[in-house]
Amino acid sequence: MNDYFDDRIVEPTLEPEDLDTTNKLRPLMLADFIGQSQVKENLAIYMEAAKSRNDTLDHILLYGPPGLGKTTLAQIIAREMGVNIRITSGPAIEKPGDLAALLTSLSPGDVLFIDEIHRLSRAVEEVLYPALEDFALDIIIGKGPAARSIRIDLKKFTLVGATTRSGRLSSPLRDRFGMLLKLDLYSPEELATIVTRSASILNIPVEDESVVLEIARRSRGTPRIANRLLRRVRDYAEVLGNGVLTQEIVSEALAKMGIDSLGLDGLDRRLLAAVIDYYNGGPVGLETLAAMLGEDAVTLEDVCEPYLMQSGFLTRTARGRCVTPMAYQHLGKPLPTDSQWQGSLFED
Ligand code: ADP
Repeated sequence: MNDYFDDRIVEPTLEPEDLDTTNKLRPLMLADFIGQSQVKENLAIYMEAAKSRNDTLDHILLYGPPGLGKTTLAQIIAREMGVNIRITSGPAIEKPGDLAALLTSLSPGDVLFIDEIHRLSRAVEEVLYPALEDFALDIIIGKGPAARSIRIDLKKFTLVGATTRSGRLSSPLRDRFGMLLKLDLYSPEELATIVTRSASILNIPVEDESVVLEIARRSRGTPRIANRLLRRVRDYAEVLGNGVLTQEIVSEALAKMGIDSLGLDGLDRRLLAAVIDYYNGGPVGLETLAAMLGEDAVTLEDVCEPYLMQSGFLTRTARGRCVTPMAYQHLGKPLPTDSQWQGSLFED
């Protein structure tokens, strides 16, 4: 395979190559944000109510797989509420003092966006609780018997937290959010609308609608991947053709990237093949599977599994992961006979 395509192109996490275009492609207002209608509806009501009361928006937790628009939504919330946004992430706030510095620098009503909020340390979380509830910081001054606590009042602010799964959060932290919003993978039609919009912003000529749908179908339900595939395919079209995205160029480029007709890449196929070849279709535990594939269990769970489950290749049961007959079919492997069949379609 060409070096250019060696990385896992369907990785939904932010890569350096995304940065130059990401800001250009981010929708600025809620009305431009495609899909996630339930989330948008709830947010619109919530923001309207806060605005009419002249109040600060309550804290919001956004959760769902990477690349679905959590950062984008946080920025939209700030813009629609007419306030500033500070963007940071759980691992970046190392000490309670870092959080205190951030919180004291906020203006009234500002949005503080903490990505990967489940990765905050316990010590930082402890400082965050009173800040979220009472808009105050409890600072300990001095050490030993002379230590005393002083309380600093903060301006009212809105915390928008983002995480891949709400279950990763400690329950005291989760309880302090007024609204929990779950983002789901996008449908191919929604992704097609996003690709059309991005192609027009980036001035990429597209032959027809079917080309857009092809990219959308292979983007594993994730706008970040759709935008990335669009850019990669454009490079292809510029080098091999006259710059116009045609069905032929798109199919060839995607095949070169190792992305198959249903949007699965090498790692997805290796995962399914491992369950079939070594565990007779499952069940197999996540950690065992991760060790076997030489991958991180969190990556498999957050990145591979949501799409494999949504597209009906994999099921998660109490005893472990099982593949479905569709996985055998897609990989061209013979289905085991009934007596060998371990996987079950009827467990949840
Ligand atoms: P997350 O924070 O969930 O990882 P981001 O907000 O960074 O995801 O979104 C990734 C990219 O996908 C952004 O560049 C954004 O332009 C695009 N994007 C996400 N959601 C949408 C959407 N609903 N409509 C259009 N573009 C979107």
